[in-house]
This record gives sequence, C-alpha cells and structure tokens, in this order.
Amino acid sequence: MTRQGIIEPRLSSPATIIPGVGGKKSQALEKLGVFTLEDMFYFMPFRYEDRRFPKPLCGLKPGKTEGAIAYVQDIVKRGNQTEAVIFDDTGTARVRWFTDKIAGFVREGMRLAVYGQISNYYIEPQFTHPEFEILAVNQPPTIIGIVLPIYPANSDLTQRILRKFVNTALNDYAEKCLQEFLPSRILQRYGMMSLCEAVRQVHNPDDEKKFIRARNRLSFDELFLLQAGVMMRRKSYASKYHAKHLTPGKLFTLFTENLPFTMTDAQLNATHEILSDMAGDMPMNRLLQGDVGSGKTLVAECAMIAACDSGVQAAFMAPTEILAQQHYMTLTKSLAPLGINIALLTGSLKASERRKILDGLADGSINIAVGTHALFSENVKFHDLALVIADEQHRFGVMQRVKLAEKGTAPHVLAMTATPIPRTLVMSIYGGLEVSTINELPPGRKPVRTISLTPPEYSRVYDMIREQVHEGRQAYWVCPLIEESDDSDLHSVKEAYDNLRGIMPELRISFIHGRLSPDEKAGIMHEFSSGKIDVLVCTVVVEVGVDVPNASMIVIQDAGRFGLSQLHQLRGRVGRGEAESVCVLLENAEISPAGHERVSAMVQISDGFELAEVDLIQRGPGEVCGIRQHGVNEFRVADLVRDEKILYLARDEAELTLKDDPELEHEPELRQEIFRRLGGVLELATAS
Ligand code: ADP
Ligand code: MG
Repeated sequence: MTRQGIIEPRLSSPATIIPGVGGKKSQALEKLGVFTLEDMFYFMPFRYEDRRFPKPLCGLKPGKTEGAIAYVQDIVKRGNQTEAVIFDDTGTARVRWFTDKIAGFVREGMRLAVYGQISNYYIEPQFTHPEFEILAVNQPPTIIGIVLPIYPANSDLTQRILRKFVNTALNDYAEKCLQEFLPSRILQRYGMMSLCEAVRQVHNPDDEKKFIRARNRLSFDELFLLQAGVMMRRKSYASKYHAKHLTPGKLFTLFTENLPFTMTDAQLNATHEILSDMAGDMPMNRLLQGDVGSGKTLVAECAMIAACDSGVQAAFMAPTEILAQQHYMTLTKSLAPLGINIALLTGSLKASERRKILDGLADGSINIAVGTHALFSENVKFHDLALVIADEQHRFGVMQRVKLAEKGTAPHVLAMTATPIPRTLVMSIYGGLEVSTINELPPGRKPVRTISLTPPEYSRVYDMIREQVHEGRQAYWVCPLIEESDDSDLHSVKEAYDNLRGIMPELRISFIHGRLSPDEKAGIMHEFSSGKIDVLVCTVVVEVGVDVPNASMIVIQDAGRFGLSQLHQLRGRVGRGEAESVCVLLENAEISPAGHERVSAMVQISDGFELAEVDLIQRGPGEVCGIRQHGVNEFRVADLVRDEKILYLARDEAELTLKDDPELEHEPELRQEIFRRLGGVLELATAS
C-alpha cells in the first residue's frame, strides 16, 4: 500500500509522506527547516543556474560552464581518474572525472547529458569533472535544458536529492495542497500567477519573467496575510474594548509651565499626537521613536501626568533595574512636588516594601508605578490602570506587553524606542500601530565625535581620558561582551579595571557589572552621576537609557563584537550635556569583516535612523528588531528591502479587503489561510 493511501496529504503533513524521505534524510531535512509538505513547497532555492541552452560540442567555449548532450565514444580508467571522449553531430570533446568509479557504469555508446567547466585539452575542449546523467534514447535530460534551482544543501543532502524531493512533492501533492486563497479580485487586478503555478515556478522557472512574477506573488502572499491578520486583530480588539478618555488638566499645566527648558517642536508634536490618542475611544497603540538623547522621557511624563489629571493610574516599564531606578528618580524629582504618588516596583524589593506597594497599587493611592518586568507578575493588581508606557520597547516581547495590558481593561499603550525601526518593518510587523517620531535633539547638542583605533594606536585613548577628566568630565569604559554569562562579564570588567588602574592610578576608577545586587548597582550609578567617579568600567548594563550629562567620553573595547544598534545606544550615553563628546571604538586585531564594517558605519554616520537602514541591509530584516520575539516567523520569500513596493500594495489591498468585510465572512479561504499561517500570533495578540 502506498503511503499516500493512508493519509490524505495536507500542507501540514510530515515531509516523510514524500517517497524517499525518512530516517537520516528526514533528520537532515529538519536541519534545513523542512518538517512538513508546506516547508518543502516553500523551501526556496538561494540561487539558480541558467542551463537552458545546451551547446553542440563544436560550440563549447573554454572558460565557460556549459552543457551538452552527446554519446560516449571511448571511456577508460586512468589512475584514480576516468577519461572519456564524447561525440555529437558537430564534433568531439573530452571528459575528465576525478574518480575512477565512473568507468564502472558509463559505457561506450551511452547517451549522456553533461554540464561543467570547459577547458582546453590540447586543441580539444574538455569537460572537467562535470555533472552528468545517463539518458535513454528519447529521454529528456533533467540537469540541462532548464533553469536549475540551487538549494541550501548540507552534507547529508546533495542538490540532486533535494531536487528530487522538491519535484516529487510538486508533482504528487502541489495541485491538491496548494489551494488558491487570494480573492479573484486581487488576482485579476495584478494579473497574478495562481498559487500552485507560482510555487512551481520559483523552483523550476521557465524564464526570468515568470520567475519574477512567481516570486512577487509569493512575497505578496506573505506581506498581505500578515498585514491583514494584524489589521483584523486590531479591529476586533477595538470593537470589544473602549478606552478611558484621558485629558490633561491642572497638573499638566503646572508641570509644563515650570519646565526648566522649552520643549523641542518634535517633543511638542509627539506629545500632541499622544494626548489626542489618549482622549479618543480607541485604546492608543503608539510607538514613540526618537534617537538617543532626544528627550522621550519628558514626552512620557506628559502622558502620565494627563493620566493622573484624569484620576487613573499609569505604569512605566523599563527593561533593566538601573533604568527603572533612574526613571523613578527623575519622575520623583519632577512629579512628586505636584502631589503625584510614584512607586518603584522591581524584583529585588524586600517583602514588606513590596507588600506596601502592592496595596497602594490595588487601592489606587499610587498614581504611577515604575518598574521592570516585575510589574506584570501575577499578584500585581491595579486599581485603575489606564496607561502603559514601555521604555526601550525593542527589548520587550509581545508576551510581556500583553500581560501588562491585561491588568487594565483596555489601557492606552505607548512604546518608546531609540532603536529606530525602519518604516517598512514597523508597518509589516505592527500593522495598525501608529508612530510618532522625535526627529531633533534638544538645542545645543553637538554630535558625538566618533573615532576608531587599532591596537598600535590604543595608547592614545588614555591621554584622551586624562584630558576629559582634567576638564572635569567623566568617561565610560565598556568591556567586550564575551558570552551572555555573568561570569565572563565579571572577568572582562575586572581585567579592564585592573589594567586602567595600572595605567592611570591618579584617576577615580570604579566598575559595575551584572553580578552586583540592584542596590549596589544603584549606589555606583549614583556615585557616577554625582561626579564621584571619573571612569566607570562597565558592561552593556549601561546600554539603555542611562542619563549622566557630565559624561562626555565613551570607550568601547572590542567594538566589532557589538551590533550596530547596540553601538549606537552606547554612544548615546554621551553627548547629553554642553561639552563636546567623543566615542572611541577600539578595534581588536581579530575583528571580523562584518565587525569592521559596523565600526566604519559608526564612524561615518551619527544619525540613528540612517544606521538602522544600514543595519537592515547588512543583517536582513529578521534580525534587526528581533521579529522572532514578536512571534512572527521570518519571511520565506519576501524581502523587505527588495519588496518595499509590494509591502505597500499589500497593505492597501488588505485595508480594502477588510473595509467591507472585517471578519472576512465572504472570503472563507482567505480567512482560513490567515489563521493557518498566523494563528498563534493572532490569538496572542488579540489580548494586546
Ligand atoms: P531619551 O530620548 O534617550 O530617553 P532622555 O529623555 O533621557 O532621552 O533625555 C536626555 C536628556 O535631555 C535628559 O537629561 C533630559 O532632561 C534632557 N532634555 C529633554 N528634553 C529637553 C529639552 N527640550 N531641552 C533641553 N534638554 C532636554
Ligand atoms: Mg530613554
């Protein structure tokens, strides 16, 4: 009995349904990410070879890679090689294989398809170690006469086997499994290829035109389904919940009238956009983007004060304890005088302190809760939480936001990030998310001068530090990230600290790392911000959000190991005060080419958005802002840089499709496909 006879094939059927896939081969496929029939259909070639036009033997050109169909005139074993002469109507050619096995089964008179590099053997053309297949008289070749897909293979799976598996899947199951789901309206408007045809064509394209049409179709699918899915979830959420209307009042006026400086136009703009969201019926879902140092905290404060004015609670989440501490101090300084009650909730509180804060949150006497993820542990109950702000939001996963959002009925959510997410990504991942951008820095800021030093030049850095300290400024010294373990952090910090102490014994040097208790960390940060430490040796614990305006220099050791956005974040620790600031990137002798590219980009580019685009191109979209964290798989076909136009098109079509039929009642196939592909993500996200 055939295996097909037992199970009805579906996209989710295991790849082992394909004859020949099993045991070792199926394990090897799994390593390539192929578990199901669907994975097999969408297992994309990473390049193609145009082998469409085989040559007559007299037309073979040395130096080129060519294909031909010919007969074997003569074949012999020579040492551990095989040599043959082949002929067709137009002439002869030689073939040399670097193995003696071929002579065992290729015989004189056989008809062969060969494909390989041509060189000159005296005056005759020679195929050097070509691919080949033996053909019966009228049998068409499979390795030439086509555009050949080249798959990401591994040692257990040759190209030949992969091609065979893919083609078997296509021949036996594609028709049955790849049911059209796009509305015919869309298919017709763009003259799109059918799904089944598109999948066939990306594997075995007839020509370049068809290939592009096929790829565009599949890329459209991914971008369209994702955006439609996200829009559906937004709509159903909005129709279920009504948000509280929050409006600024007395406290807000008092606060803004007494600011020690004028807000930048960009800050005013962003504040305005946020406040008008908060005054509406729909829960706000907004991302505030602004380069490091652009003053996002102040905008967040404005939003929180409007919440206090409206008699509800706000929560302000930060990704690290240090940052939560710092926000707590900033808020206490500026808001406590207005009579606003602020509490800090982190994981390291004593039980009694924690109890007190939990009570205050539950009875509503605490207006603003600042904290880390401890804010959304089970037993934290709010009296009336209506605004949630997540600082440095690229560090939060969807799950965390969902959990916090669940604590209010339909709280307004503001996420803030200094890692500017390129527009295309924002759109595709966050769908209905609104974006505000702070595109200017407070006046008087000078760009941070950035230089890189190679090992022979390192000694310059010490003079630079002395100079800064001499002028009353302070410096960060950031240690390389060895592994994600606290142990190696500790080690590299200690080493750098001892080294610097040896070189500059006259300076006040101290260190901070992940192993210290939150209290110790807070203590050291406090000493640093009050100017009692000249040089702070640290790990990336200072990466996000720390604000010490008097620090005017940052040295990053082994800078090639850090990612671009991380480097930019680190650089953002300086350039916050009046003084001209400098960022020194130390290049290790073993720096990788990619690392060197990142360092060069940092030296040349100061704008965070521009760097983010570079990052997108260098690393590809999947990595840039941890899409995986958001539960969205990487695209298999779509490329957000290449397919930007398709992305916009897909968004417009998704909007149009959902406008009259928000639940897709008239497009059941489409609805089903959206839930099939994005089910988990959508369910999870409906709560957010
Ligand atoms: P980020 O956007 O990186 O979170 P912060 O909110 O920490 O930036 O602000 C950086 C620094 O700029 C803080 O010291 C803050 O007090 C100051 N700042 C914010 N807005 C202004 C402004 N309009 N004029 C002058 N200084 C400002
Ligand atoms: Mg900040």
